[in-house]
Amino acid sequence: MTRIFPQYTYGNGPRDGCWWDETVKTSVRPALARDTKCDVAIVGAGFTGLSAALHLAQRGAKVIVLDANSAGWGASGRNGGFCCLGGSMSSDAALDRQYSHAARHEWRKTERFAVELVETLINSLSIDVDRHSHGETCLAHKPRAFEQLKEEAASIYENYGVEPDVLPPSELASAGLSGPFHGALTIPIGFGLNPRKYLDGLIKACLRLGVAIYDNSPALNVTSGTVKTPEGVVRAEQIVVATNGYSSEDTLPWMAARYMPAQSTVIVTRPLTAAELQDQGWSSDQMCYDTRHLLHYFRLMPDRRFLFGMRGGLLSGPKAEKAARSKVVRDFRSMFPTWSHVDVTHAWSGLVCLSRDRVPYVGPVPGMPGVLTGFAYHGNGVAMGTYTGYALAALASGQEPDRYPSVMSNAASRFPLGRFRRLLMPPVYAGFGLNDALP
Ligand SMILES: Cc1cc2nc3c(=O)[nH]c(=O)nc-3n(C[C@H](O)[C@H](O)[C@H](O)COP(=O)(O)OP(=O)(O)OC[C@H]3O[C@@H](n4cnc5c(N)ncnc54)[C@H](O)[C@@H]3O)c2cc1C
Repeated sequence: MTRIFPQYTYGNGPRDGCWWDETVKTSVRPALARDTKCDVAIVGAGFTGLSAALHLAQRGAKVIVLDANSAGWGASGRNGGFCCLGGSMSSDAALDRQYSHAARHEWRKTERFAVELVETLINSLSIDVDRHSHGETCLAHKPRAFEQLKEEAASIYENYGVEPDVLPPSELASAGLSGPFHGALTIPIGFGLNPRKYLDGLIKACLRLGVAIYDNSPALNVTSGTVKTPEGVVRAEQIVVATNGYSSEDTLPWMAARYMPAQSTVIVTRPLTAAELQDQGWSSDQMCYDTRHLLHYFRLMPDRRFLFGMRGGLLSGPKAEKAARSKVVRDFRSMFPTWSHVDVTHAWSGLVCLSRDRVPYVGPVPGMPGVLTGFAYHGNGVAMGTYTGYALAALASGQEPDRYPSVMSNAASRFPLGRFRRLLMPPVYAGFGLNDALP
């Protein structure tokens, strides 16, 4: 498989130290070792692939899921657990310009629907996900950013049909959100969860419905009607490629240069004591992020461990991984100095996925009848990946999904520079860093 990051990125190095490993016992399933047939073959067993598998199996389809590693090995099993709105990096104005006002509304409604879909699945499948937080809180990292948040608040009702809560700096301490922040905006949609518990629930539900999941079964080549793995070929009426940020350039050649993997790193502390929480003035169980372009995301989990993550890191390898983890620890300690002595017990990283159009894609692979794909949630795939799987299941069944925003169905454009497109990122990150540092 030809990939755009060094091989290290696709091994276990970045994943070692993941807190979620300690919370759910995972079992490795056998690899596909023979030729076989099914209605729908799914490549990639993250939220997208598993949600597609589940919704297809509920429709009565015979489904096979193949993962190059193991189910949940990719971004889905190692993210921050924010089940939230999002999925695109485009502003309202940009969406209105590029698509239309109506298309933007359709898209925003789908973001909300995606969160509700996760909630429905968790409830209907009785998955205990260590849920907390009433929506998500965005914290201004500078006074000007708070002014922008206040302006943004006006569009929240229009976009999502809910009233946001705007908190001036003077009220942060009483909300248990003390830190270097200049105000906050809470949107009451979304919640925090243990992503591995959510995955585990999806996997079990798939297995109950007869879905066959094969680990260590990389798709080497996808054509209309066949998926070839090292030890067997799957023949299927429909094929769903759900490899997202972990895609390769050659498994499904159409994907080449249409996705941009980007690194994100997370740390988790030991449980904080009541006294430590009081010292910092942090008692909120809201999931939070700041207004930086290279944003920090953080939440106090139900077991009182603090999860803190950030995007960035342009290089990959053992040294770069160590440096990325150290940078996140430094940022955590500078944002919450009273916790400087608190041990960081876990750290890991993984790939999120961006698209050139700054919106996700879900739909057919042009020129390949019976092959579908969905990817690029811009770091917000817990809900959007689940929705995309739901939409893919409808499309693979020959039906229009009951929600299918045109924003997501426009074929993803290619990035310039082909397999060397990572070179586009340093100047973008430098610009973001500069902008974040401006007063
Ligand atoms: C550190 C980090 C923090 C994040 N935090 C959040 C968050 O808090 N909230 C949020 O909403 N989103 C978050 N995200 C993003 C979110 O995790 C992803 O958008 C989502 O998990 C993508 O799901 P997926 O199923 O599309 O892809 P993945 O979960 O990446 O699954 C792709 C799978 O495809 C497999 N694969 C690849 N190639 C092949 C092949 N040729 N054959 C077979 N299998 C193959 C891989 O092994 C992998 O398991 C985060 C991501 C990271 C990395």
